[in-house]
Amino acid sequence: MTEQNNTTNTGPERLDFIRQIVAEDCKTGKWGGRVHTRFPPEPNGYLHIGHAKSICLNFGIAAEFGGKCNLRFDDTNPCKEEQEYVDSIIYDVHWLGWDWQDRLYFGSDYFEQMYQWAVELIKKGKAFVCDLTPEQIREYRGTLTEPGRESPWRNRSSEENLDLFARMRAGEFPDGSRTLRAKIDMSHPNINMRDPVMYRILHATHHRTGDTWCIYPMYDWAHGLEDSIEGITHSICTLEFENHRPLYDWFLDELGIHHPQQIEFARLNLTYTVMSKRKLLRLVREKFVRGWDDPRMPTISGLRRRGFSPESIRNFCKVIGVNKFNSTVDYALLEHCVRDDLNRTSPRVMAVLRPLKVVLTNYPEGQVEWTEAVNNPEDPAAGTRKVPFSKVLYIEQDDFMETPPKKFFRLAPGREVRLRYAYFIRCEQVIKDAEGNIVELHCTYDPATRGGNAPDGRKVKATLHWVAAEHALDAEVRLYEHLFTKEDPDQTEEGQDFSANINPDSLQVLTGCKVEPSLKTTRPLDRWQFERLGYFCTDSDSRDGRLVFNRTVTLKDTWAKIQKNQ
Ligand code: ATP
Ligand code: MG
Repeated sequence: MTEQNNTTNTGPERLDFIRQIVAEDCKTGKWGGRVHTRFPPEPNGYLHIGHAKSICLNFGIAAEFGGKCNLRFDDTNPCKEEQEYVDSIIYDVHWLGWDWQDRLYFGSDYFEQMYQWAVELIKKGKAFVCDLTPEQIREYRGTLTEPGRESPWRNRSSEENLDLFARMRAGEFPDGSRTLRAKIDMSHPNINMRDPVMYRILHATHHRTGDTWCIYPMYDWAHGLEDSIEGITHSICTLEFENHRPLYDWFLDELGIHHPQQIEFARLNLTYTVMSKRKLLRLVREKFVRGWDDPRMPTISGLRRRGFSPESIRNFCKVIGVNKFNSTVDYALLEHCVRDDLNRTSPRVMAVLRPLKVVLTNYPEGQVEWTEAVNNPEDPAAGTRKVPFSKVLYIEQDDFMETPPKKFFRLAPGREVRLRYAYFIRCEQVIKDAEGNIVELHCTYDPATRGGNAPDGRKVKATLHWVAAEHALDAEVRLYEHLFTKEDPDQTEEGQDFSANINPDSLQVLTGCKVEPSLKTTRPLDRWQFERLGYFCTDSDSRDGRLVFNRTVTLKDTWAKIQKNQ
């Protein structure tokens, strides 16, 4: 990733608050001019668009300030973590366009060092082994308005604590029977500082360390140590960790080791979707979607399959910016960013989703003309291609109306329209089946209008897309709507959860669609504009001659409209 690709800000006055801090630190030489960030996902699910915000922030800052950014797996909870998630995260961060070079790290690689540091705190009298059960610990913790109570095990001698901690590690005690806790202050106004748990006993197999450990560090204990070991300068995290910062600082100060600065920013929320991995996992497990990469999911893999480019996601992250207040971003803005990108980059092709047969009664039987079609009007370098035209064609069902209302300018009995890149055609006759359904149209074409213009200067009010029947390829097209019916899926009736707001019509599968023959060689993830219909992406189910497309977005830009009307 080059710096230019991601630099949003041209002048210092436009730096967001985090970049301001980093710029100031570089100026004062606080970290010896170093900038070192990290993106620290827990491998307990696939990455989502919220993670993309954090990725672009951490890797972006490193790139802009000539620093480094690590990819680090915060893999301290063996119960929920899997290699599949590790692999997908690595793939997704790369796909987004970022590179950590040789700095791929795993929190679990530091377990021994973390253990030694815990021993150090015990020796200093700053940590103790506690025999309270998890329920009791909660009970003793107190509330926001009431101080907590000290554990009866708080004043064990260092020797006893060292012995018990070693035996915890050795596997002598069952899960949940003991913990190692920091000895801070049970009446501290910040509950996180009331003797927080540092280690719990968990006889579970870890996806990397196997059965080597049966005690596992808690997030607050582990995270700062991981940052410290890696020489991180700016430890950027989301706002819910603001209350944890005093603890982050306390651990590092007590150990007297390298102490990065934790900085919090507001997480991304998007309308009509959920973003927590726990909820996304439920959508997958309970089969509300077809998998983590279902094109309706806000996951990076889902957006990729839907047809989003890495550039459009990076640009979205740039546009939303970074701040300190939680808010919810309109999903339409994400769509606006992808449209903007696809408009510039995606080749145009013709596809008919709901075909209506058109027979040109005066066109020679068996004749085929190859008309020249522009691949991308936004990009002259994209060139042209040949599209076949012949006697039998398909147009879109809704481009014809037998009794058109006033503002309908497309095809109707007796009316003339232009077929893109081809001829003017006039509808002469409507053919119906026994039930009265329209099955085909008989039209005539005007040979003088080849290329789409009449030499006598007569005008038509509509230009339709079409495909030649004989050459058309069959395709399946999947249309998507929001996965949830409510802007805030968590807004539910008593006793319900977000799954009550799932949109039953979020996926519509159209079969029997007809696409132009140039799509024969398309590969999964190719992106297209189907003329007049929207942006589409070839799905990974396309193989062995089968063609499947996902609609990424329609052409209509609701976000641009909102902006214009304001
Ligand atoms: P979730 O709540 O979705 O489970 P998480 O915070 O538990 O997310 P992590 O794997 O720990 O997931 O996240 C890795 C990094 O991504 C963290 O630094 C976290 O703050 C950041 N992150 C997670 N969700 C968002 C979001 N919605 N917006 C911005 N950053 C996020
Ligand atoms: Mg987390």
